Amino acid sequence: MIKRILTGDRPTSPLHLGHYVGSLQNRVRLQEEYDTYLLIADVQALTDNFEHPEKLEANIFEVALDYLAVGIDPNKSKFVVQSMVPELTELTIYFMNLVTTATLERNPTLKDEIKQKNFIKNLPVGFYTYPISQASDITIFKAHLVPVGEDQLPMIEQAREIVRRFNRMYDKVLIEPKALVGEVARLPGTDGGAKMGKSLGNCIYLGDPPDVVRKRVMSMYTDPTRVHPTDPGHVEGNPVFTYHDVFNPDKAEVEDLKERYRKGKVGDVEVKEKLFKALNVVLEPIRARRERFASKPERVREIIVEGTRKGRAVAQETMAEVRTAMKISYKF
Ligand code: ATP
Ligand code: MG
Repeated sequence: MIKRILTGDRPTSPLHLGHYVGSLQNRVRLQEEYDTYLLIADVQALTDNFEHPEKLEANIFEVALDYLAVGIDPNKSKFVVQSMVPELTELTIYFMNLVTTATLERNPTLKDEIKQKNFIKNLPVGFYTYPISQASDITIFKAHLVPVGEDQLPMIEQAREIVRRFNRMYDKVLIEPKALVGEVARLPGTDGGAKMGKSLGNCIYLGDPPDVVRKRVMSMYTDPTRVHPTDPGHVEGNPVFTYHDVFNPDKAEVEDLKERYRKGKVGDVEVKEKLFKALNVVLEPIRARRERFASKPERVREIIVEGTRKGRAVAQETMAEVRTAMKISYKF
């Protein structure tokens, strides 16, 4: 049996460099061996954007464009819109019985995000329970592997716990998924924050034109202790150098810049200029493919509809098994 991948993204905005190194690269590589489903998670996006549902439709399209731009092949990977698979909602309701509030409270990513979004006093139940809905996303597709960034590891762990409970209590229907973290587990933001994130305003987007990328690089956070270019600087924890390590293939150039930076022999502008060049080499072909698909919106829509149709068929099959296992597959 060919193994499956399920992973996805929230259509809260187009995708960025963090997605690329955290998860997209792995998807491009693995779509050759795995039956791949990519969930465009609009229902999850609503859990913290419920006041702005109008953002979703355009961003579903943008995320699909980003998939195509990085080389995801729609003949191998299915793009599935979450809200168009209502079986996911049903499974989520059943899973809710298998999770305690104490488990949710301990989820470190959820805790961080609740703080970040200022939900401490007014926590919507929908947001609080999104790890359960994410467990449905993964398991309804019977995914073996979930390529994700590091922040998602607690979600995969939650899904594994639910699967173990379900299989023990009802019947062995579901598959315990494994996470696969990308080349970079967590790309920092341009602001020096721990994670580049769409909701954090610290991103370089895959579709950004060169002048925008340049502006974002030039305004990047560097070493706050360094006032003049002649001051010795810190390379570790400096996102400009983290990006150099990830995106600049010229290792000798990076080593030389680091050495001069530590000694106070190079200015931020030169380091950033070289980073911009390296990033542009990565982004140029992505941008070109993105523009090509953007000019054929009908084709992109077809890809989404077709992927969702195939994804829903898998979800319906799993749900039939789930209902039988739970003895709620009534005859009347
Ligand atoms: P939001 O702020 O709306 O939550 P996000 O940038 O966190 O957006 P998601 O759609 O939540 O993006 O995440 C999609 C996938 O990309 C997840 O697997 C996540 O772990 C991964 N990812 C997101 N940001 C990064 C990052 N900075 N480094 C590595 N992986 C990332
Ligand atoms: Mg996120």
